[in-house]
Amino acid sequence: MFTTLKNRYEQGYKTCNYPQEKPAVFARYRGRPIVQTDADPDIIKACVTACPQNAIDIHTKKIDMGRCVFCGTCEQISQGKFVRFTGDFEIATAQKDHLITHGDLPSLAEHSKQHFKRLFGRSLQLRQVSAGGCNACEADLNVLATPFFDLARFGINFVASPRHSDGIVVTGPVSKNMRTALLKTYEAIPEPKVVIAVGSCTLSGGPFVGSPEVTEGLDTILPVDLFIPGCPPHPLTNLHGLLTFFK
Ligand code: SF4
Ligand code: SF4
Repeated sequence: MFTTLKNRYEQGYKTCNYPQEKPAVFARYRGRPIVQTDADPDIIKACVTACPQNAIDIHTKKIDMGRCVFCGTCEQISQGKFVRFTGDFEIATAQKDHLITHGDLPSLAEHSKQHFKRLFGRSLQLRQVSAGGCNACEADLNVLATPFFDLARFGINFVASPRHSDGIVVTGPVSKNMRTALLKTYEAIPEPKVVIAVGSCTLSGGPFVGSPEVTEGLDTILPVDLFIPGCPPHPLTNLHGLLTFFK
């Protein structure tokens, strides 16, 4: 008992102070991209050609963050002269087309739904469904339950049954095999309910885009309220999306 108390005293308070303060992210983290539209056309073309996700539009020079897997190839090829990734992790959006950007994003708070804030602002119970994900998106959601993020202090919890939940958090590309299970889970959640899409796979098919085995965007089968891009999204991106949209 004494040892436990001593350890607790020595370790102190471990929970981050977000959203009051933004924790520092790893230097190599790739967050919101910034596009230089006046970059050398040859460099732009090389980036467009090399992008494994077809996420860069050569005409508008915008990046689709819903398709992007944040691999950094475009930044590397252009040496930051066309695309540069910032450490900004606050990149969730309320509309899918907001993800197609030169780097500017509309305020998520202004696009959140007020009735959701009224209903779920103090208590939000979520059921997570991994619909064919690689487990990285899932792991970075799980980590929100650890003392550093302590999601429960905001009244947000992941629960075991869809019947006890207010919404669904989907990861993975919604493979054919998971489609029925996902739709049944959605149906089991009582109204009103929210749908949150997490990760490039769920937003667009991700690295599996083009495969007949996956769905190219959760929004083609369910009404998505919150889009959280990344491969996987940083836990702070998930936290920012949840807090800004529902609090
Ligand atoms: S970081 Fe995104 S936009 Fe750039 S090459 Fe990779 S997938 Fe394409
Ligand atoms: S978006 Fe990336 S990290 Fe998430 S499940 Fe798909 S491949 Fe894995």
